[in-house]
Amino acid sequence: MQKNVIEDVFGTKVFNDDVMREYLPKKTYAALKSTIENGEELQPDVANVVAHAMKEWALANGATHYTHWFQPMTGVTAEKHDSFLSAESDAHAILEFSGKELIKGEPDASSFPSGGLRATFEARGYTAWDCTSPAFLREDAIGTVFCIPTAFCSYTGEALDKKTPLLRSMEAISKQAVRVLKLFGKDDVATVKCSVGPEQEYFLIDRDQYLKRDDLIFTGRTLFGAMPPKGQELDDHYFGAIRERQAAFMNELNTELWKLGILSKTQHNEVAPAQHEMAPIYSTANIASDHNQLVMETMKKVARRHNLECLLHEKPFAGVNGSGKHDNWSLVTNTGENLLSPGKMPYDNKQFLLFLAAVIAAVDDNATLLRMSAANPGNDHRLGANEAPPAIISIFLGEQLEDIVEQILATGTADHSNKGERMDIGVHTIPAIKKDATDRNRTSPFAFTGNKFEFRMLGSSQSVSDANTVLNTTVADVLQNMADELEKADDFDSAADKIIYETLKAHQKIIFNGNGYADEWLVEAEKRGLPNARTMVDATASLLYPKTIEIFERQHVFTETELESRAEINYEAYSKAINIEAKTMIEMASKQYIPMVIRYVTSLAESINSISSACAAADVSVQTELLTKCSTLLANAKKALVSLKDAEQKANAMEEGKEQAEFFRDTVFTAMAELRTPIDELEMLVDKEYWPVPSYGDMLFEV
Ligand code: ADP
Ligand code: MG
Repeated sequence: MQKNVIEDVFGTKVFNDDVMREYLPKKTYAALKSTIENGEELQPDVANVVAHAMKEWALANGATHYTHWFQPMTGVTAEKHDSFLSAESDAHAILEFSGKELIKGEPDASSFPSGGLRATFEARGYTAWDCTSPAFLREDAIGTVFCIPTAFCSYTGEALDKKTPLLRSMEAISKQAVRVLKLFGKDDVATVKCSVGPEQEYFLIDRDQYLKRDDLIFTGRTLFGAMPPKGQELDDHYFGAIRERQAAFMNELNTELWKLGILSKTQHNEVAPAQHEMAPIYSTANIASDHNQLVMETMKKVARRHNLECLLHEKPFAGVNGSGKHDNWSLVTNTGENLLSPGKMPYDNKQFLLFLAAVIAAVDDNATLLRMSAANPGNDHRLGANEAPPAIISIFLGEQLEDIVEQILATGTADHSNKGERMDIGVHTIPAIKKDATDRNRTSPFAFTGNKFEFRMLGSSQSVSDANTVLNTTVADVLQNMADELEKADDFDSAADKIIYETLKAHQKIIFNGNGYADEWLVEAEKRGLPNARTMVDATASLLYPKTIEIFERQHVFTETELESRAEINYEAYSKAINIEAKTMIEMASKQYIPMVIRYVTSLAESINSISSACAAADVSVQTELLTKCSTLLANAKKALVSLKDAEQKANAMEEGKEQAEFFRDTVFTAMAELRTPIDELEMLVDKEYWPVPSYGDMLFEV
């Protein structure tokens, strides 16, 4: 029988369990497995044997190079290739790869953002093998490269990347969750892993059009552009039939992802025209995070093969929805139990209620920090803009759990829970279906969805590491306090009830089941004292809150110095991003739009002159009116351009840091909007033949 394409290609480029079994001696395989699964320390002799097996496998599959693949604080991945070539004996190339080379790399760290963790003259940085995320082969024009997922740290051991803190946070939450589970008699639970399923939104546009827009090339989003007559108002793109060109892209994308062992599962058209989504089946946070990086890279690469450009920016086009990433998160024991699964009788499931309470407390206590973990300059355009959850963190529990919470708050315990009913659609030929106990709420930033939480604030281009690091660490800290108290208790059951009650009571203000997009919610949230950090700059302060430092140090995820470095990097990254946008606007306005409008108004003036001299009685009012309007807008644009240049210069004269970022946010960003307005108005007036770049209509509808 012919094999299905998925079975045929799945995992063929991964040094996965099957390959390990085949290539590794039994003892080495067992040792490596126990490191991967139980977190036991890896011995050097094991690494040597694994390295040899990896080399054999990689060479057999055509690899010429290997690389330590890591995730510096730029949020994208980094790599430096080494060929397997080691020495030459007479005419023969010798190919080698040792345990040392597998375990440790030493890329120059001085050119990666370090947020003051190191001075530029201190160049040493180390990459260290993360055996919990499988190594893989990447094939493209360069040939085949064997990629080894690694953590990246400084000479003094500080994390310089996004993977290390995530791994530390996974250890933290595992440790505390295991303690709590012991109290529930689950002695067989050795580890708890957090599982993550990131849904990825993206845009696909024609690459020829993309290449004509400097704003897309330099900043990932359009900085100018008038809305076309049609946007997303008909909702006809969402889940619409996928057109051939995009279908061909998705087909190839899936194949490439499956080869890498990525569980690409769903695909569909999204709300905005030219917008799509892909979601994989969830996996362990660390692997999910690595895989999501590969998903983004693969999307970009495959798109180009179809003369398409994949836009991962959070807001490529003003006026239609931007792109986000939903981080589905839950906790699963090594015995296979999902700790966020309420079971059949959630009201009676003390263990579930305790973990639920812990998540609620962690999110409430660290709302701004969680908001920060989803912050980047692009996402500032989405959060709170009626297309994505607001910048205010709240939790949606759904009717069933909300009812249980209410019972507990009223009487200390709950004694029943609502069940999902059968649903009648009114057509007898359609089988009766059972509906869930709870409807969905798309407007909530942090929603309970059956057996997991869905954190919906993340931006489409972001690494999911930060969000999961914050979630794991803050929940671990609450669990630690709970375990401390419960371990001391004489009567475990009533102590647990008491903790659940008190936690829910203290944090009920974060629970909100209503419409997060409504203006009333802003008022209500303020009344409840929930923070509303509107921008990345506002949210970044939370990295240095005393309680953040305390929690992260206690859980051994970040030192104070590491947190300071992340805050510094955020401010710099924000300033740099806005600066590039401002400079791009200045360049496009000065070199493209303004000269083009001058040409256009000149042609209008010439036309008026020649018509009037040919026939004095001819009506030139249309041309004259257009000439006046365009000239006024042109003058406005010129004035706004001067202001933007001025603001940009002032910003750049400032010292890097928080104040500079605030200046970019308040002054430069505002000046950018003022330049955009007259240019977008001109786009509606000027002859399309003159317009120097593709319009929104061209890009969104002609793909
Ligand atoms: P939506 O309806 O929001 O689009 P889906 O049902 O497609 O959501 O699932 C979204 C994601 O949630 C998928 O990546 C899925 O694998 C993931 N997911 C499902 N169960 C869990 C879980 N227990 N932990 C983490 N992620 C999960
Ligand atoms: Mg979702």
